[in-house]
Amino acid sequence: MATIGQPKLELRELRKTGLKLSCVGFGASPLGNVFGHVSEQDAIDSVREAFRLGINFFDTSPYYGDTLSETMLGKCLQALGVPRNEFIVSTKCGRYGGGFDFSEERVRKSIDESLSRLKLDYVDILQCHDIEFGDLDQIVNETIPALQKLKKEGKIRYIGITGLPLEVFTYVLDRVTPGSVDVILSYCHYSVNDTALEDLLPYFKSKEVGVISASPLAMGLLTESGPPEWHPASPELKSACKAAAAHCKEKGKNISKLSLQFSLSNKEISSVLVGMNSVTQVVENVAAAVELTTVGKDEVILREVETILEPIKNQTWPSGIQKS
Ligand code: NAD
Ligand code: MG
Repeated sequence: MATIGQPKLELRELRKTGLKLSCVGFGASPLGNVFGHVSEQDAIDSVREAFRLGINFFDTSPYYGDTLSETMLGKCLQALGVPRNEFIVSTKCGRYGGGFDFSEERVRKSIDESLSRLKLDYVDILQCHDIEFGDLDQIVNETIPALQKLKKEGKIRYIGITGLPLEVFTYVLDRVTPGSVDVILSYCHYSVNDTALEDLLPYFKSKEVGVISASPLAMGLLTESGPPEWHPASPELKSACKAAAAHCKEKGKNISKLSLQFSLSNKEISSVLVGMNSVTQVVENVAAAVELTTVGKDEVILREVETILEPIKNQTWPSGIQKS
């Protein structure tokens, strides 16, 4: 139980949106069974514990588990039974189990389907999901304007874009109507093994765009149990992360805690989205964040892990339409 005087999970403002996101956000892709089966009860308990411990930000997509993540999150939020303005929900559009479609017609249908699965009247943020798989000029000229209409209609409050290659963000933000994109969501680029996002933080600030960073555990690479079968990293990257995890374990440390604390350390990032599927993970991740503000990072083990990961630093993998 939280006791009086116990440090709270930090809230950070998402730039001009004014939204105050918990620094640890709840990534709901695991609720779509993306990292193995999760029961409805475990999902409900995880979300309830997250909210109780101060996590107010929940991220999903119709793509995760082919709509299952949204449906499960909808049930979990309903089970919470708290006023709508006490939590912040982001979902996405354009990427589905069956493929990609960033057309105005599809995203208009998409938000209605998402709201119905989530059992909500509006989402706080709607993001174009993994835009490197689409035509970036369509995102600029059709999808973002379509989302601006949804904003006027009250179905969404803010507009975002997500993707893996960082160039897609500058391409779009340099071309859209200034101010039309409120937030970017980057993943796997602000972790102990990859900090490529850092160079772009001043650019996002200059554009007044909020920054969310996802996958601090590099989608399972930075965990003791290792990544799922589908993980796209090279064998070299996987084995370096495995060695780092083993080193931490040998020293009585936890690679996931260290990694999450590393990602949380940069306050230009408003929220770090971690995928969670159990009460234990929720408790551990919130404790890691609270400990970071009270005690600080373990710099010794961090240096050791950084040394192990040095040969693969900033190594990533291809994503999107490959240009020849
Ligand atoms: P992640 O790096 O957060 O890793 C998730 C994995 O780590 C899961 O297997 C989870 O069970 C495990 N885990 C969580 N806490 C742990 C702990 N304390 N100890 C050990 N293992 C732990 O990767 P992710 O889930 O892919 O990313 C987080 C969220 O960010 C997603 O759920 C999604 O909401 C969002 N995201 C969005 C995009 C996008 O928009 N393109 C891409 C990636 C992630
Ligand atoms: Mg994703």
